[in-house]
Amino acid sequence: MPPFFTVDADLPGRRGRTGVIHTPHGDIQTPAFIAVGTKATVKAVLPETMRELGAQAVLANAYHLYLQPGPDIVDEAGGLGSFMNWPGPTFTDSGGFQVLSLGAGFRKVLSMDANRVQADDVIAEGKQRLARVDDDGVTFISHLDGSTHRFTPEVSMQIQHKIGADIIFAFDELTTLVNTRGYQEDSVARTQAWAVRCLTEHRRLTAERPQRPSQALFGVVQGAQYEDLRRQASRDLAAIVDDEGRGFDGYGIGGALEKQNLATIVGWCTDELPDDKPRHLLGISEPDDLFAAVAAGADTFDCVSPSRVARNAAIYAPTGRFNITGARYRRDFTPIDADCDCYTCANYTRAYLHHLFKAKEILSATLCTIHNERFIIRLVDQIRAAIVAGEFDELRDHVLGQYYGHSTRAQ
Ligand SMILES: [Zn+2]
Repeated sequence: MPPFFTVDADLPGRRGRTGVIHTPHGDIQTPAFIAVGTKATVKAVLPETMRELGAQAVLANAYHLYLQPGPDIVDEAGGLGSFMNWPGPTFTDSGGFQVLSLGAGFRKVLSMDANRVQADDVIAEGKQRLARVDDDGVTFISHLDGSTHRFTPEVSMQIQHKIGADIIFAFDELTTLVNTRGYQEDSVARTQAWAVRCLTEHRRLTAERPQRPSQALFGVVQGAQYEDLRRQASRDLAAIVDDEGRGFDGYGIGGALEKQNLATIVGWCTDELPDDKPRHLLGISEPDDLFAAVAAGADTFDCVSPSRVARNAAIYAPTGRFNITGARYRRDFTPIDADCDCYTCANYTRAYLHHLFKAKEILSATLCTIHNERFIIRLVDQIRAAIVAGEFDELRDHVLGQYYGHSTRAQ
């Protein structure tokens, strides 16, 4: 068996690199954008189409699949890949993000305002607190039916083993940027203790069913915007090993990140984490964030954004994101992007997509998701090729200059 992760080429002077993650369901060439299929489906798109547009792996969500249809059903189906007819590599996130963002009611931690007054009991306006954290786990109320549930590190591992993805994540506590420093310290300590329990339970469950394809467990670094906490959390996670001296297979970088500090914070973590293990950054897909994260040493990232915004008619294009429902596209018989190699751009016009959205036809979601997913996946493919060719900075300046440089976003 090859090692789980191999590094191929380095980005000189920075932490970025290219590599390969080897899973029982195939290899992932990194850096890689991992498409999000929250409920075991990339909304509106067939798995075969995702494969054709270059998706290497799909990330589903343990919290959602736990509530519906339940991990036992995914297990009986032969695991996530079999259940959803996706033969390639799969990830699940631990459910911590969903469970804990219920706590504060914030949908996007990344976009939170760190300048707010710090407090530990802050919740979004008009929201009711649906989750409570203690040292042993999290009790939360289902967003589906209001029933009460409890996740502990062990429960999260049991759920993720039943779902059976190739790469799974330790259960961590997500904090917000407005939590106090004292709370962040306690939270990092709690996430650390949970990481130890996750690794122990992961080993126990793996030994229980040795015939199953092996699953890789990633520890998750928290610590919000604090350099000392991020560095300490990274070092402590890297030091966690089981009785046989084996630690985590990779690391997730999670939690509260401000956009302007993304590269700095990722850099603190990758400085401390071992170079021979992959690092996953949870929840980014904007072109400037992708370049920053790759240069700082992130190998994989996921984000629901390309498909979510596609369903709202927002289209990624080389000169920026634009909305296809604008009146100017009504008689525009050109493709979204003449240089894009996706199925949608090969066969459909802006006028037709404009019409589909105006007529509320569901094909609009399919065609626009195909384009947006392809746009981000192709961009990350180009970043990988540029690292190998020694042209990373040239590509970054060109792509970001085009994407953010235009005064009018649409063309
Ligand atoms: Zn396209």
